[in-house]
Amino acid sequence: MNHLDYQNLTATDRLHLYWFTKVVKSNNKGYDEFQPTQSVIDEYNQYLDRWQNEHKDKLGAPVYWDKSRKNETAYFKKQLTTGHKFEEWVNAKFKAKKCDLGFFTDEQGQFHGENKQGVEIKRDAKFAETGNVYIEYNERLTSDGKWVNSGILKRDNTKFWIIGTEDKYVIFEKNKLKEIYESLVKNGDNQSYHRVHERAHDTSRGFLIKGNAVYQNALTDNIDELIDYIQEKQYYGFSSRNLYKYFHGSRGCRSIASQPNEKLITFKTPYQAKMQGYKQCRYCLYQ
Ligand SMILES: [Zn+2]
Repeated sequence: MNHLDYQNLTATDRLHLYWFTKVVKSNNKGYDEFQPTQSVIDEYNQYLDRWQNEHKDKLGAPVYWDKSRKNETAYFKKQLTTGHKFEEWVNAKFKAKKCDLGFFTDEQGQFHGENKQGVEIKRDAKFAETGNVYIEYNERLTSDGKWVNSGILKRDNTKFWIIGTEDKYVIFEKNKLKEIYESLVKNGDNQSYHRVHERAHDTSRGFLIKGNAVYQNALTDNIDELIDYIQEKQYYGFSSRNLYKYFHGSRGCRSIASQPNEKLITFKTPYQAKMQGYKQCRYCLYQ
């Protein structure tokens, strides 16, 4: 917090001082009669310190954007707060694995994306309810406004999307979501994917990924596996005559060490290996 310097008062400083005497010190004079003094400035600076100390637990609370629909109702306020809690929960998972998500807090950071690792965190309780995932690509501020690119069409550093709640979530690579979007534009809707408008407000456009298609396209349903992937861990699948399909967490595992690369298939996550019918090797996965 910035203390005021009595030799260098800006216009904003003067306004803050005037408010301070009016509100905290209950002085009813108009600004014309107001005279900043060194003692008022000292009191103001001490007040800042006390205030900051008393409210330190609340100083990290999220800001509500009042220009957008997202701030219009108590419903959206609640969404924002629970969304923030889900972010913190994901953040704690990263910290537990000694990986820093690196949340941006300045304006420039917000423009480039939410955090340095490019992980977009979307709280969506409907996934647990319906088994479907909604992916936004356009939004507008009002129901008769102009659509602009958002979600997966927003230009930012996002690489991964975590969607769901603490109890049930799924993780996609953004590239995969864009592929689905492009195939929808080219080939139209089908049973697995179809485009929808968010009916309640008509300010969001996106598509649904339904049922099994969610799991077929996901990178993983486990944040720990995402962190390993970000840290460039790989998994190696080997099948002997397609009878025994196992995946390995280490290239040097004794079961595959002597196999040439051409005989192995690589997986990004254990989740994707399991989706292809591979079982976890007991010898090497946790090495
Ligand atoms: Zn192994």
